[in-house]
Amino acid sequence: MASSIHREQSGAALGQRPEPGSALAGGHSLIDDLVTANHILFHQGVLDAFGHVSARDDRDPSRFLLARNMAPARVTAGDVLEFTLDGEPVDAAGRRVYLERFIHAEIYRARPDVMAVVHSHSPSVVPFSVSRRTPMRPICHMAGFMGVHVPVFEIREAAGDGTDLLVTNGDLGAALARSLGQNAVVLMRGHGSTVVADSLKRVVYRAVYTEVNARAQLQASQLGDVVYLTEAEGLKTTGAVEGQAGRAWDLWEAAARADQWLRA
Ligand code: MN
Repeated sequence: MASSIHREQSGAALGQRPEPGSALAGGHSLIDDLVTANHILFHQGVLDAFGHVSARDDRDPSRFLLARNMAPARVTAGDVLEFTLDGEPVDAAGRRVYLERFIHAEIYRARPDVMAVVHSHSPSVVPFSVSRRTPMRPICHMAGFMGVHVPVFEIREAAGDGTDLLVTNGDLGAALARSLGQNAVVLMRGHGSTVVADSLKRVVYRAVYTEVNARAQLQASQLGDVVYLTEAEGLKTTGAVEGQAGRAWDLWEAAARADQWLRA
């Protein structure tokens, strides 16, 4: 595992002291990758001040790692907390946690194959969450992971009219996980999307290309009469392209690190 060899002492390497309740307390290199994922997803325009990325704990599948309540671009190793599959922090030490942490908890509970989750409001995807006429579908080989049917979570079906559209408890998280089913992407009506994968690098790749595909599909639909990937093409392209997700991660990590503002 690349994540286990590249830095033994996360906190020491970053010159930080683990705070009580921080997932950093044990010294855990997955945390470094999660910090990088936060920065990449901001730099690539998937996350802004809102949204979050998590990773299932590679040492305990009944736990996952997620930052405290803050803008993703500003996350450091000391901000990463450990959560149970009930969506509760093991020890937040008084720090605020994300309202929508139940998205992550209930998907990890429902999908043992999922090792990482991105929830975002990435802007080109939102229109597809509200269109009754045009579903999101993969139009290019980089987005074959979407499959032929991208589900839309309608929160009114789970909780009626008058919610704030946020997934703020376990019941709503479980309803979202049911909408996701065995898919890689679920849209959330009037809100955003959630993307899953079997690794952190792959979920970052998928979140970026979900946004890329949404832009391309909007442009193609203006030309009209769009040809989409078939199910067979989706499966084949996913196998061919996602084995190279590390190439994208390395580039995006370098680009994010070169950003003066993110380094500050
Ligand atoms: Mn949200």
